[in-house]
Amino acid sequence: MQCYICSGSMAKVQKDVETTWKGKTVIFKGLDVYVCTACGEEAYEPDDVKAMQYFIEGAIKKDEYPEIMNVAEVADFFRVSNQTVYNMLRAGKLPAVKVGREWRFVRDEIKAMVFGQGQESQSIELVARDNGAGLSKKDADIISKHLSDM
Ligand SMILES: [Zn+2]
Repeated sequence: MQCYICSGSMAKVQKDVETTWKGKTVIFKGLDVYVCTACGEEAYEPDDVKAMQYFIEGAIKKDEYPEIMNVAEVADFFRVSNQTVYNMLRAGKLPAVKVGREWRFVRDEIKAMVFGQGQESQSIELVARDNGAGLSKKDADIISKHLSDM
């Protein structure tokens, strides 16, 4: 691989990549990064870039939902159909309350299923390192759905 700036050779290394959004620092740990041995320019694996975009978008998007979410909003958050949300409810896999005939969800609880309780960078770290061992099947399915949409 050649550096697109100086045509120097790029060496593949594993390192932590720091980025910021909304004043918070997000660290993706152990990413494969190509570093130019001549000018120091860095390049990332396309899959890693997608994963980083997904998490940063997801982290921003989750702030836009109301504190109490309905089925359609939860489906949108996970990018699944409403029916999938109902199936998950029936299987007891979603924290929810029934108000009259309608299901309602606490945003922070839904969010915590993906990001963990107040540990966003930690769950991002897990995913950035995804080698099939760090993620549950369900998480991996959700992420692959997101990525195939991009
Ligand atoms: Zn270079």
